[in-house]
Amino acid sequence: MRVTCDRHGDQGIGIACIHVAAAIDGAAATLGCYCSSPTQSARPDAWCQACETALLQDGWSEDWFRAADFKILCAGCWDLAWQRFGIGQSASSEV
Ligand SMILES: [Zn+2]
Ligand SMILES: [Zn+2]
Repeated sequence: MRVTCDRHGDQGIGIACIHVAAAIDGAAATLGCYCSSPTQSARPDAWCQACETALLQDGWSEDWFRAADFKILCAGCWDLAWQRFGIGQSASSEV
């Protein structure tokens, strides 16, 4: 899957939880960002510290996925989020 981003043009995609997606252009500096194992997409899935904590506590579930409210980002925007907030791969063995 590819998207056309206003900023980065024609790009592959990655998804990020709504908290990360909303923070790319915001003021949050310490959101934290974890990623899944590599996926079929251009980038792995990414989510914030709060989503990571919930994932480690309760395990992967439809409810977790829904609460994270994943948004599609272009690979360039995903990279920007990762540069700002990236910590490393999730400690969960389920993703
Ligand atoms: Zn989140
Ligand atoms: Zn972009």
